[in-house]
Amino acid sequence: MNATEVAWDELSVPGPAPAVTELAGDTTADVCVVGMGASGLAAARRLGERGADVVALDAVGVAAGAAGRNGGFLLVGGARFHHEAVATWGHELAVGLYRATIDELERTLSDLGPLARRTGSLRIAASPDEERDIARQLRALASDGLVGEAYDGPEGRGLLVPDDAVLQPVARCRHLAQLAADAGVRLHAPARVTGLGEGAVTTTAGVVRAGRTVVAVDGGLERLLPELAAEVGTARLQMLATSPDPGLHLPRPVYRRWGYDYVQQLPTGELLLGGCRDRSAAAEWDAPAVPSDEVQACLDAELVRLGATAPVTHRWAAHAAFTGDALPVCREVRPGVLVVGAYSGHGNLLGTRCGRAAADAALDGTRLGLEGVVA
Ligand SMILES: Cc1cc2nc3c(=O)[nH]c(=O)nc-3n(C[C@H](O)[C@H](O)[C@H](O)COP(=O)(O)OP(=O)(O)OC[C@H]3O[C@@H](n4cnc5c(N)ncnc54)[C@H](O)[C@@H]3O)c2cc1C
Repeated sequence: MNATEVAWDELSVPGPAPAVTELAGDTTADVCVVGMGASGLAAARRLGERGADVVALDAVGVAAGAAGRNGGFLLVGGARFHHEAVATWGHELAVGLYRATIDELERTLSDLGPLARRTGSLRIAASPDEERDIARQLRALASDGLVGEAYDGPEGRGLLVPDDAVLQPVARCRHLAQLAADAGVRLHAPARVTGLGEGAVTTTAGVVRAGRTVVAVDGGLERLLPELAAEVGTARLQMLATSPDPGLHLPRPVYRRWGYDYVQQLPTGELLLGGCRDRSAAAEWDAPAVPSDEVQACLDAELVRLGATAPVTHRWAAHAAFTGDALPVCREVRPGVLVVGAYSGHGNLLGTRCGRAAADAALDGTRLGLEGVVA
């Protein structure tokens, strides 16, 4: 293994680092936001723009978790393919969440400008069984007036969603952090939260006294809030990146094998490839966020299957939290503690949407739930 750095930090200019300072002892705020990934930063920005006095904290810093280490796919819909979502969540919630992510995608694209690109995305079948599943997905999308097209091209056979997009995850987080700072939010790190009580957030760097707390932590959520352990589990997800590969041309992100494997190619030619989590499934739960030989060897084999020849430059891992029904946690878990997270590997759009819903619920004193995300 030749590297463990996150490629996004270097591959394209992620923008200036926002002003994050140490939390120097105890302080007060109207609202404390825990987690400076995209979800927490979207919440903090919303709170700041609505005039609240806000402290945002992170154990490490901006984009330290999955929000700065992911595949960069902006895919509409939830963490279940639409026909499965309808079967599991019910028609109204499945369609509502799907439409909410369409709205969030448009908002994200207009907010990020050149930091995101509308490319479309491909779900490609790896077996006849998966091809039949894609046919079911296409029928379910069509019957709800949602866009998806049958695809047959060099990547294989599957489904094209023409409106999907990609982004630079680290740049997005820095952009959101800057907007939050511009709205008056105080950004503090490193400050690891060790206690969450009504009105007080205890950290390794001091206590924040705040009327309400928004927790926006994805991977490791059940460690911070042990009462969620029965419904939330954290897995390690792994990726690699290559130098520019002149022999390959992937104009849009591709996910394959039921979404387990995913790859995108930057306009400058580098490949960013992730997945293979199911190849050593048991070993990936609760594993430290460092690459493993077994999964990385599987990703290497996937590069060969694609016909890539460029050398691997980066290998990394990060945590994401999953739930049994693939619906995120989005509710008040303790009095005054509003929690969003556990996007089941699909949080780039749902996360910011849930973060803003939590911010509004914190300020308005309304109930936080998925109905507020869909609305
Ligand atoms: C390898 C990988 C690829 C993925 N690919 C995609 C994709 O292509 N598209 C997609 O939609 N989703 C993808 N996901 C999922 C997506 O990245 C996440 O769901 C999303 O980024 C979560 O963002 P967040 O801001 O909610 O949480 P996070 O990014 O996890 O941020 C939480 C922050 O909280 C901080 N924190 C944690 N514990 C504490 C504590 N006790 N005290 C203080 N701070 C704390 C962390 O340091 C972190 O910065 C992927 C995930 C991984 C790991």
